Amino acid sequence: MGVSPVIAIHQVSHFFGRGRLRKQVLFDIDVEIYPGEVVIMSGPSGSGKTTLLTLIGALRSTQTGSLQVFNQQLREANTRELVKVRRYIGYIFQAHNLLQSLTARQNVQMALDLHVEIDKKVAYQRSIDMLAEVGLAEWANYYPQELSGGQKQRVAIARALVSHPKIVLADEPTASLDKQSGRDVVELMQRLAKQQGCTILMVTHDNRVLDVADRLIHMEDGRLSTQDQAFGLPAPVSP
Ligand code: ADP
Ligand code: MG
Repeated sequence: MGVSPVIAIHQVSHFFGRGRLRKQVLFDIDVEIYPGEVVIMSGPSGSGKTTLLTLIGALRSTQTGSLQVFNQQLREANTRELVKVRRYIGYIFQAHNLLQSLTARQNVQMALDLHVEIDKKVAYQRSIDMLAEVGLAEWANYYPQELSGGQKQRVAIARALVSHPKIVLADEPTASLDKQSGRDVVELMQRLAKQQGCTILMVTHDNRVLDVADRLIHMEDGRLSTQDQAFGLPAPVSP
């Protein structure tokens, strides 16, 4: 193929705690994710999904093995290198993490504050445009407590995508949503990511959204396995 992976993980393990309390939560993780791929990770609660996502997102230090994002080795990377990697990643968490004291537009625009090269007026307009993309043009000046769960999650998506990140990491983005809003939110993420050519790694328990993935991976007791691409679809009928 010749295309290099945007995320390359080899033999990554992770431990929490010290001494007698030291506990291994990830075991020899190996996975590569390519530019533009939509990958869904499933697995039971406590199996290590969030831990892996925070390692990839440079939010936690890699202890062993090799974890490269944009060809930057994260193991033993310094703070400056980690901060640089984070600028090209959009994060969407289960509990959307919107700041209650900021409007929808201000929450989205905050993601552009890291990008000092973007003029404030431009940042303002891009935030408004991004909210329109997620169907919230009329809601830009509303505060989170005035929005529904689905609307808040769409603001979080707008915030994650406004800076055109190369990778979006989404941790159970539909967990607090009803079936239809969950579906809408995932389709929206997929559409915007395809438009921008970015890679998505999403954790979800929601079987109804698995079809948006190019590839499915599964975490169980800290070990990662690959599932068949056609998982969840009927088996092919032989002629
Ligand atoms: P998942 O996202 O699949 O539910 P997590 O990655 O959150 O799983 O957790 C994996 C394991 O690591 C669990 O046993 C959890 O209790 C433990 N764990 C997670 N975060 C910490 C932490 N900060 N300190 C100690 N143990 C943790
Ligand atoms: Mg989790």
